[in-house]
Amino acid sequence: MEDKYDIAIIGAGPAGTACALALHGSGLKVALVDKSIFPRDKICGDAIPGPAFKAMDKINPAWGRAMRAFTDKHEIRTGRMFSPNGKSISLDWVTYAYNSKRIDFDNFLVELVRKETATSILENKRLKSIEVNNEGALCQFQDETAIKASIVIGCDGANSFVKRKLAEDDISNEHACSAVRAYYSNVEGIQEGVNELHFFKDLLPGYFWIFPLENGWVNVGFGILQEKFGGKKLPMSLRHTMEDILQNRPQISERFKNSILHQEIKSFGLPLGIEQKPISGNRFMLCGDAASLIDPLQGHGIDYAMWSGYFAAIQAVHCFKNGKFDASTMKNYDVQLFAKIGPELKRNTFILKLISKAPWILSLAIMLGQNKKWTQRVVRFLKI
Ligand SMILES: Cc1cc2nc3c(=O)[nH]c(=O)nc-3n(C[C@H](O)[C@H](O)[C@H](O)COP(=O)(O)OP(=O)(O)OC[C@H]3O[C@@H](n4cnc5c(N)ncnc54)[C@H](O)[C@@H]3O)c2cc1C
Repeated sequence: MEDKYDIAIIGAGPAGTACALALHGSGLKVALVDKSIFPRDKICGDAIPGPAFKAMDKINPAWGRAMRAFTDKHEIRTGRMFSPNGKSISLDWVTYAYNSKRIDFDNFLVELVRKETATSILENKRLKSIEVNNEGALCQFQDETAIKASIVIGCDGANSFVKRKLAEDDISNEHACSAVRAYYSNVEGIQEGVNELHFFKDLLPGYFWIFPLENGWVNVGFGILQEKFGGKKLPMSLRHTMEDILQNRPQISERFKNSILHQEIKSFGLPLGIEQKPISGNRFMLCGDAASLIDPLQGHGIDYAMWSGYFAAIQAVHCFKNGKFDASTMKNYDVQLFAKIGPELKRNTFILKLISKAPWILSLAIMLGQNKKWTQRVVRFLKI
């Protein structure tokens, strides 16, 4: 016999946990399922963007405060961009933000769900099959257990099983961008509260980042748009390109000469929000990376994951209220979510395409950015 739930959320990253938190108080029986046991790592730049805090404030202001008060973090006030011609500009952010290793941050979110809600958290359960009919959804896991639910919410990340099985349209611009990440300590010239983005002429549209973390560690990575989406064909693998940057670009290599690597360099795909395709259907919705909601320009997706989790929860409650779970009812989720984040995704897709075609625009922007007033206008425009 399968356990029965009203809602099965597959994936307990920022999208799934935000959704479970937003369902608190709805009276619905919710399962939050993940293939991992928390705390678990997630390959990421570990920069928790300002709008993620706003999403949590919307779900519950007390949990927004708890998220700000979380201690395993390095608060960030400035983004510093280094152009290919060696010039740099600093953008002082208008919103509160910090860097936090995802192993810690995601565990904080899961613990918040555990402490504050009646959600059943089912760990170490990898979804291996899903069937949806007019009665509901049957989710079967690799350990041969199964659950039934009236609605499935796919929050299972960039390689979403739920998306592959249930989405009719191919919404996979998944891996439109790929990136590598590593942790280092003992890197020279790290400024507290400053995230660094370095652009290289031969590696556009892509960037190398150095993001400071607590205890003197830094998150270091490199990401680039894939060739089929207008990016450049790299002469070597992403990992080797990053090693090349660390060893052979003097402005970087000098600073890493005494550094200590704390984990092997790992890569992962970023499904960018460059097209708005359907992200729901009969008895299901997709959130976060499963719905390809990563910002095309800056590569952040934690904030959109949390906002989508929130909107999916609102829609789920609406479905139970009206006893309707069909695709046209679910469509309201797409409409509400894209009304919130669609304009920003479209604008940043446009800027990305522009930079891909004419990379010199970036150097020009950084040159103009030597003017402080102009840079702060850009910060307000980009809402960072
Ligand atoms: C290299 C890199 C750097 C990035 N840097 C940043 C950054 O600095 N800031 C930012 O905001 N965003 C960044 N992103 C994007 C960000 O990581 C994602 O947008 C964000 O994690 C999306 O959250 P999510 O909840 O949708 O998915 P995830 O965080 O990927 O969570 C999905 C969950 O689903 C579970 N799961 C997967 N498959 C199954 C299955 N079959 N059964 C059960 N469970 C399953 C996984 O274990 C996981 O816990 C980066 C991404 C990459 C790859």
